[in-house]
Amino acid sequence: MYYVTTAIPYVNAAPHLGHALELVQADVLARHRRLRGQPVRFLTGTDDNALKNVTAARAAGVDVAEFVARNADRFEALRGPLRLSFDDFIRTSTDPRHAAGVTCLWRRGAAAGDFYRRDYRGRYCPGCEQFYAPAELTGGRCPEHGVEPELVAERNWFFRLSRYAERLRDVLESGQVRVEPAARRNEVLAFVRAGLADVSVSRPAARAGGWGIPVPGDPSQVVYVWWDALANYVTALGYGSDESAYRDWWVGSAERVHVIGKGIVRFHAVYWLALLLSAGLPLPSTVFVHGYLTVGGTKLAKSAGNAVSPTELVDRYGADALRWWLLREVGPTEDTDFTTRRLVDRANLDLANGLGNLVNRTLTLAHRYRAGRVGPPRPFAAAAELLGRAELVGGRDEPLGAELLGACTELPGRIDRALGGFDFRAATDALVAVVDAGNRLVERAQPWRLARDEPANGPGGTGLDDVLAVLVHAFRVLADELSPFLPAGAERLRAQVGSGGQVAEPAPVFPRLDQRRE
Ligand SMILES: [Zn+2]
Repeated sequence: MYYVTTAIPYVNAAPHLGHALELVQADVLARHRRLRGQPVRFLTGTDDNALKNVTAARAAGVDVAEFVARNADRFEALRGPLRLSFDDFIRTSTDPRHAAGVTCLWRRGAAAGDFYRRDYRGRYCPGCEQFYAPAELTGGRCPEHGVEPELVAERNWFFRLSRYAERLRDVLESGQVRVEPAARRNEVLAFVRAGLADVSVSRPAARAGGWGIPVPGDPSQVVYVWWDALANYVTALGYGSDESAYRDWWVGSAERVHVIGKGIVRFHAVYWLALLLSAGLPLPSTVFVHGYLTVGGTKLAKSAGNAVSPTELVDRYGADALRWWLLREVGPTEDTDFTTRRLVDRANLDLANGLGNLVNRTLTLAHRYRAGRVGPPRPFAAAAELLGRAELVGGRDEPLGAELLGACTELPGRIDRALGGFDFRAATDALVAVVDAGNRLVERAQPWRLARDEPANGPGGTGLDDVLAVLVHAFRVLADELSPFLPAGAERLRAQVGSGGQVAEPAPVFPRLDQRRE
């Protein structure tokens, strides 16, 4: 069983391209496991209880609940345009499962003796919803937001994080909780090894504008928004309410995977683990951390005025082109700069001119010379022997078609290994390698020449049939293996090549995109 989640974003603004990246990555992981026959649950949602939602609503002059609901709708509505396959969507403010579970988690931590009250003064960044130690600031400013944090003095509940330092080091060093990529794991380990101070885990209800979940037994305080938000990974499964899904998917899953951005690693790989240890719950198995997207070198954020709307990009270029760019070009650790030119160039290179063109040429030949009838490829040895005939391959030694058949055979394993390491670029490389092998086969075999040189007694095992059969076989393998990445494109490809002995009339699988639409 496989449980995969995204972080739940604040809903102080509409979704931007960075949210789309994370959702698409998690979607590919979920679809890939489903394709391999595993039971999968994919969760996403919104973090409604953050103070910055309250601030943004007030600035917009809108009721907080209405403002939060409106923006949460826009996140949930990404499902259609981005072709997402999440099984559940949690809204932390209105979902009755959530408050019950957060309360239950808090009570277990309290029973373990992990909370105490303390006066506190610190520098608080409302954008991050966290206190910063002076050494963590960059020139006195928040490293994420570039603003000077506010000086806040208040009496809060504290969590004995220090108590869990050794166990956290153990679970991270042993790989019991895997943090990927390794650079992020090393960052977290360095933080934990340097020693952990207790952390504030509540806020005065007054400062939170009454928004949030009351601390059990202390209504003057609300649960710190991060403690509240992190809990969604188990409250959405009914932890603290109806626990059957929780037992199946959190306790019972072999893999519990969190997909997150690099700015919130500490919350997931330190605080969340400690919270679970304190409550006596199982830990996630993996935290996968993606890099950030930039636009013109600037971080994607509404405040920076460069928010790129994923739905507008899908309207203009289609879901396939956007998903493909996110999966094919975004690096595992470094930031990746987005431009519409890059999106269009990549889609045209790999999809329209690559796979799409190869399918179109092949089906055109199948209809011109075989009335659209294409048989299955012969068993490999026979096909290789036949296709290797010198008169068909211009005297070259390597059997024609063997490379493509080999690439098809290797494809599922290559994708499994790449996604096992969360390397989406390597996974898409494997798909492109099959298309490249297909193009080399067409260049070497020159099917139109095979057709011309056929004996006068007509078709039948003359070479052209074998070339077409191997190509169509490759397209069927691609239609399956491409489906987690480009569900819409894979459907069109499958409709083109079908499953029987007849292929459809050629129609463009991937349209060529126009750069001028920018
Ligand atoms: Zn900040």
